[in-house]
Amino acid sequence: MERTFSIIKPDATKRNITGAINKIIEENNLKIVAQKRLKLSVEKAKGFYSVHQDKPFFNDLIDYMTSGPVIIQVLEGNNAVEEYRKIMGSTNPDNADKGTIRKEFALNIQENSVHGSDSPSNANIEIKYFFDDSEIVI
Ligand code: ATP
Ligand code: MG
Repeated sequence: MERTFSIIKPDATKRNITGAINKIIEENNLKIVAQKRLKLSVEKAKGFYSVHQDKPFFNDLIDYMTSGPVIIQVLEGNNAVEEYRKIMGSTNPDNADKGTIRKEFALNIQENSVHGSDSPSNANIEIKYFFDDSEIVI
């Protein structure tokens, strides 16, 4: 069993498709073991995406991620980090495989509906950045 960290991003909460995304997550044998709806502060969003702080898209990314509510989640399952990245599809929906969340729902390379951790070690860091152990219930 492994855990990954997920965000359903503002473009998806705005279009009321969080349930449709959760359906895909659950159909693919990932269990939502923690879930919270909140609005990211600019400070929290900058900390979360600090690895991208020197990228040209950083300021736009922070504006977008703080533009509306998000759903933050912990997903658990076999090989959860890699499995969720597979279900999400490529960052740019134009390159995403059919049946992936981003192919189905993403609007463009920025408003791409979901985040998923890119390694087990980053998953641990990201989960701790948002959740107390007591909020994760199997
Ligand atoms: P995430 O980290 O959100 O799961 P990812 O790992 O597929 O996405 P990253 O390269 O980590 O992609 O980029 C983080 C986020 O920054 C992307 O999901 C997207 O919202 C935004 N982003 C990435 N590249 C671009 C770009 N070229 N132009 C605009 N926004 C971008
Ligand atoms: Mg990433």
